[in-house]
Amino acid sequence: MAKRKREGEGRVFREKWERDYFFVEVKSMPTCLICKKNVSVLKEYNLKRHYESQHSKSYDQYTAQSRDTLLQELKRALRASEALESQG
Ligand SMILES: [Zn+2]
Repeated sequence: MAKRKREGEGRVFREKWERDYFFVEVKSMPTCLICKKNVSVLKEYNLKRHYESQHSKSYDQYTAQSRDTLLQELKRALRASEALESQG
């Protein structure tokens, strides 16, 4: 077995994925802002595949500024629901 000397590499959440795929990192899990599903493997390919198979038809229409606006709204909604959860 070949040993891989690339630990940690490629396993860092990139901010651009928020905008590209509507994913954010929640408790170190990449979480889809649209359907709130977690993707267990933090790799761009997995996030991209999820977005493209589940959401791209509805969300590809959002480009440039409307995409940023939508992203901010989704993030705000997520934070609001987290706040509710932590209050029990
Ligand atoms: Zn999703």
